[in-house]
Amino acid sequence: MKKPKIRELKEAVKGIFSRPYTTKFPYQPHTPPPRYRGKPEYYEEGCVGCGACFQVCSANAIDMIDNTEKGNPIRTLIQHPSKCIFCRECERNCITGEGIKLTQRFDIAYVDEEDVLSSVKHKLITCLYCGTVIGTEKHLRWVLKRIGNLGFAQPVLLSQLMEELQVKTEYEEKGVPPIQRTDMLKVVCPKCRRIAFISDEKKEK
Ligand code: SF4
Ligand code: SF4
Repeated sequence: MKKPKIRELKEAVKGIFSRPYTTKFPYQPHTPPPRYRGKPEYYEEGCVGCGACFQVCSANAIDMIDNTEKGNPIRTLIQHPSKCIFCRECERNCITGEGIKLTQRFDIAYVDEEDVLSSVKHKLITCLYCGTVIGTEKHLRWVLKRIGNLGFAQPVLLSQLMEELQVKTEYEEKGVPPIQRTDMLKVVCPKCRRIAFISDEKKEK
């Protein structure tokens, strides 16, 4: 049998008289170190609903559900801690840097998963003609602020600006096919805008 080394003996003796390395959790509260990667949480104020966090999550721990069936289309983002690998990619790639953050919370055992889910909801803007999702209202306005005057060149962004300034727009109107060239300035998706342009060009010939 190999004899224990002096260093190991010293460690063993020191261990008898020193405090345990482990904490007394759950009998006593435990505070993890500052850089601990705990449960991700959405922050409604900082999130614009772009879906970048959903796209970069390699563990499929984030669901993005676009409900366009009813009159009030909504995007819901839901983070599932049970699938999360705490890689922090969602936080790192969040376009605002404030929408989702890993917290210090490590105790995520649950009976009902609803108790540990984190979610956020956003109003969706959809094409007046085909209903395709264009983006969330908050995301479009965030883009508009970033690009400044360039936003005047994009009809959907322009309509958002007019909404913000409370200038009456045709935003609430429902599109009635066939789509016309003048409809290009309404809230329509790129595909419908192209159809409007091409059909008008054909008419002129
Ligand atoms: S920490 Fe990683 S695994 Fe967890 S939700 Fe964010 S991207 Fe997905
Ligand atoms: S703003 Fe950030 S948290 Fe919100 S959907 Fe986009 S990436 Fe996710």
